[in-house]
Amino acid sequence: MKLADHDGRAVLVVTTEPPIGIDIATASDGRFGPSIGAIYDRWDEFTAWAGAAADGPAFPLDERSLRAPSPEPRQVFAIGLNYRRHAEETGAQLPAIPATFTKFPACIVGQEATVALPSEKVDWEVELVVVIGRPARNVTEADAWAHVAGLTIGQDLSERDVQFGAGFQFALGKSYEGFGPMGPWLVTTDEFADPSNLALGCSIDGETVQDARTDDLVFSIPSLIAQLSAILTLYPGDVIFTGTPSGVGVARSPQRFLQPGQLLESWIEGIGTLRTHLTGTP
Ligand code: ZN
Repeated sequence: MKLADHDGRAVLVVTTEPPIGIDIATASDGRFGPSIGAIYDRWDEFTAWAGAAADGPAFPLDERSLRAPSPEPRQVFAIGLNYRRHAEETGAQLPAIPATFTKFPACIVGQEATVALPSEKVDWEVELVVVIGRPARNVTEADAWAHVAGLTIGQDLSERDVQFGAGFQFALGKSYEGFGPMGPWLVTTDEFADPSNLALGCSIDGETVQDARTDDLVFSIPSLIAQLSAILTLYPGDVIFTGTPSGVGVARSPQRFLQPGQLLESWIEGIGTLRTHLTGTP
């Protein structure tokens, strides 16, 4: 099942090329939705209904109206140095526990977002993003997937001067307006042959700059959920940016960063392509 937020209303995506959806609040006679956040809060009931009874008038989706599949999470977690080859390219030691930080939720945007670059030091980071379905507290790795609503594509856009300034301000350097593109939709885990081994990458104006697989992750999705939920509760709709693979601009020689006018396209096998447009300082 694919789920999207189309202009503030939750839709079931029935085909992706072209994208066509069913409005969930209409199809369920108001039982679920209209906001996608309300659906994550009743995830088990919703999936039971969607698997059995979901039907309704289908309509074309305008991709410019696709907001992030979890547009207002209570908590956003992001993991640094979580791909072996990315840790190597940065010269950092592999962490013994997940290197966790936050992106403030207000930075989240969706498909076809236009993001203003605040400086000449903004970098790309394609990431597999997990959206939580069932609340998770002290969950074991074996039970972790049962707490996941689905997966989507994210960009952990990063202003490197702020990120590494004043003793590592990751939360600020990665939370400028629009720095959390996510989308275009959520794909439930049953749609993947193996959700632990997906191809992912991104390109700038068609030139591939990251190209990897999620089996290079240091801490798997179940491991992240187990370790985070040992400390706090993960709530429905919460988001985990699971880390970026190698190929970021800051680790290149010479270093390279995003420029106004560029198109950043991020893809993950089985999900699709997230498009982000970059402009100059507003
Ligand atoms: Zn990242």
